[in-house]
Amino acid sequence: MTEPGGRVPRRRILHVDMDAFYASVEQRDNPSLRGLPVAVGGDPDKRGVVAAASYEARTFGVRSALPMSRAVRLCPSLVIVHPDFTKYRAVSQEVFALFRSITPLVEPMSLDEAYLDVTENAWNEPLGMNVARRLKEAIRATASAGVAPNKFLAKIASGWKKPDGLTVIAPERVESFLQGLPVDALWGVGPVTAKKLRAQGIEKLIDVRAADPALLHDTVGSLAEWLQQLARGEDDRAVVAEHEPKSSGSENTFAHDLSDIADIRDEIAAMGRDAASWLTRHALYTRTVTIKVRYHDFTTITRSHTENATRDEDNIVRRAVALLDKTDAGTRPVRLLGVSVHNLSENPVARPENPQASLPFDVPDMMPAGPSD
Ligand SMILES: [Mg+2]
Repeated sequence: MTEPGGRVPRRRILHVDMDAFYASVEQRDNPSLRGLPVAVGGDPDKRGVVAAASYEARTFGVRSALPMSRAVRLCPSLVIVHPDFTKYRAVSQEVFALFRSITPLVEPMSLDEAYLDVTENAWNEPLGMNVARRLKEAIRATASAGVAPNKFLAKIASGWKKPDGLTVIAPERVESFLQGLPVDALWGVGPVTAKKLRAQGIEKLIDVRAADPALLHDTVGSLAEWLQQLARGEDDRAVVAEHEPKSSGSENTFAHDLSDIADIRDEIAAMGRDAASWLTRHALYTRTVTIKVRYHDFTTITRSHTENATRDEDNIVRRAVALLDKTDAGTRPVRLLGVSVHNLSENPVARPENPQASLPFDVPDMMPAGPSD
């Protein structure tokens, strides 16, 4: 895709992030909650945590991931709403269907956050700003949007003015925008890295450009080159369309039936390792490990084990192999084995006795302008 003269056309990237997602949905569906400090989460006396806080609650210092007991102390008038994740997922699916009606290039980051490449779009809007404006009107929940020539800047733009914000960084404004940003705004710079950079006198994002590459490398390691690119406002990463996977698995049919339990364990362990590496690549955690065993007579059984979310290889392999004890593998010949992982989530369980904590928080709302992922 090139314009006359061989120039690569400028991309128009949207980053859309719903504001206080779960709390906004509750306030949308229940008018009596509007204008009130609302926290979605578990009960304070059952070690519940805040999964989402309305903007009214945030003025009291109530934040996602805070223990609910503390949230109530900060804001005695706090209205606690128990989460309805089925509803939030349905709203999310509605919003993503809207995104995909505009462009197939939609990259979900979580239930309530996505990148859209709208350089070409079904609305035939030449301006990303107009796409964002129409999109915000069409979403039946509060969202903030950022429009920029790349993902890095689009994400900063969407976080610039929340809630209900729309920030456009036009190509000619990129440089002046970059000039004002602190070093924390850089993708991959968390509080620890920011502190190290500040210790080297690198306070602002533009200081990263001028920094001696060797010194920068000593300070932040392999991140150095990437940071210098971002500090120049350069980010070539494409918006990669991906649907949220619900499970992953592999299975093998063997040329000869397996009878030796040691061989069977080795096969299951190898598939368990594959599942763990798949989870790591997709930044997901699993709660349920399932094995499938087909005996020589084609009888097929599955056995599952569910516990706290994990993507730890040893944990997954150990559980998959242990499930063999619940089968006749080793006494009956086996012609097929499989291992799969289900109940996937983006967050590990913070507190096992607290099921809400395993579901994705809308933490991105809480971050400063700098992306955390
Ligand atoms: Mg959000």
